Amino acid sequence: MSAACALAEAGYHVQLIERRGYLGGRASSYLHPGVGEVIDNCQHVLFGCCTNLVGFYERIGVVDKIKWSCEMTMIEPGGRRSQLGSSWLPAPLHGLPKLMAASAFSFADKISLGRAFAALMRRAPQNSAESLGSWLVRNGQTQGSIERFWRLVISSALNADLDSIALPYAAKVIRELFMNSTHAGSMGMSTVPLSELYAGAEQYLFQRQSDILLNTNVESVRWDSSSSQWMLSTRAGDVSAHFLVLALPFEAMAKLLPHMPVAAGVERLKQQIHQHQHWPICSVHLWFDREITALDHAVLLDRELHWMYNKGRLQPWRKVNGSYLELVVSASKKFAELPRERAIDQAVKELAEFFPEVSTARLEKAALVKEIRATFGVPPGIDEARPFVASPWPNCFLAGDWTATGWPSTMESAARSGHIASEALCEITGEKRAFLVPDLKPQGLMRLLS
Ligand SMILES: Cc1cc2nc3c(=O)[nH]c(=O)nc-3n(C[C@H](O)[C@H](O)[C@H](O)COP(=O)(O)OP(=O)(O)OC[C@H]3O[C@@H](n4cnc5c(N)ncnc54)[C@H](O)[C@@H]3O)c2cc1C
Repeated sequence: MSAACALAEAGYHVQLIERRGYLGGRASSYLHPGVGEVIDNCQHVLFGCCTNLVGFYERIGVVDKIKWSCEMTMIEPGGRRSQLGSSWLPAPLHGLPKLMAASAFSFADKISLGRAFAALMRRAPQNSAESLGSWLVRNGQTQGSIERFWRLVISSALNADLDSIALPYAAKVIRELFMNSTHAGSMGMSTVPLSELYAGAEQYLFQRQSDILLNTNVESVRWDSSSSQWMLSTRAGDVSAHFLVLALPFEAMAKLLPHMPVAAGVERLKQQIHQHQHWPICSVHLWFDREITALDHAVLLDRELHWMYNKGRLQPWRKVNGSYLELVVSASKKFAELPRERAIDQAVKELAEFFPEVSTARLEKAALVKEIRATFGVPPGIDEARPFVASPWPNCFLAGDWTATGWPSTMESAARSGHIASEALCEITGEKRAFLVPDLKPQGLMRLLS
């Protein structure tokens, strides 16, 4: 979508082809038949540092639908709360006072976290073969800091086990979310269902004489040399185009590859795709007959649940009588294997440990969404497997979150890849355009340290 909108802005007639009946891909919402509500396939958060995603939202006019928050409440089983967030101190020290006051961490945990943050201020070489897990052990991180910070915050942000995360990606998350500036680390959540955000993209494309073809699965692609055009075969007929941006997840790209023209570089692309692995994310949606908490969101410690989002509060137009909470479990293959009833039971039981109101409330309805192919992992060496924008074929560009953006599997990576592909396409037509939104500049002392 980010490529389509950027190219439409540049004056191209864009045809956006989507296999499903709605836009959004892995970040979408739909009417869940079991609960009769429009729900997101999972809560999606962005951060201030997601400059290209914000740029895309600005382009399609929906940036005001994002609610920002600079505070993170951590809750221990039993209900004790700690607050992380910023203070008046200059970056990178702005988070220090709240971290030092947080009862979720022992004094030893705080010292070890402080030491780790200081070490990660220096950029780890991008080709470092070390995993975050081994780096934490080598850098004397305490059990408390590993369980309650690294495993919970960083491992769930990157949606993988600590041993499956390349150090440079973890260091990037730490710098962007906790060190560069208060704004870079502030968390954004949509106040409308995700698909409603993309209504802005639909309108944007239609106003620029571009088309959206939904329910259209591209089955094969061939180059027609007589017309110098790409011909895309779909069940609804062929679609022709002078230029192609393939913004598919790696699994879909692997499926299409045997139905693409033979070209030098295809074998390499195939090998790159084979190195990718996906990780699951599950979300449990619960409706209670009364208010469970006045918090908008929270991090839940020491249990299988990781994040609580109070959707009734974040999306007040829902006019929920009681509460609608969404609970997110990242990177847990174990939870993803649970059958529906057991997953919901476990979620409700765990939730009651954080919010006593749950034990007296009536659960009115519940939904479980398992996204087994939610994100790609970022283990050491993964950059070798992330293809650049230039594809093996002429006039064809690669995009999608898994391509070489330097970002983990996020909406920002997807938006970035779309902007990179749009710039590359414009360049070969002789019209240089800048779509890539620059990174935020570090603030405070981080300006000197970066
Ligand atoms: C449960 C979950 C939670 C997440 N949480 C977050 C989060 O909090 N923050 C965040 O930033 N990111 C999060 N992500 C990751 C984020 O959703 C993805 O990184 C992003 O959506 C990837 O966008 P994309 O355009 O690269 O790929 P996709 O969203 O997968 O889009 C690719 C599109 O191509 C279509 N397609 C595939 N094959 C074909 C074909 N042959 N013909 C036509 N169309 C085809 C698909 O239907 C899809 O719509 C989460 C993902 C999941 C699943």
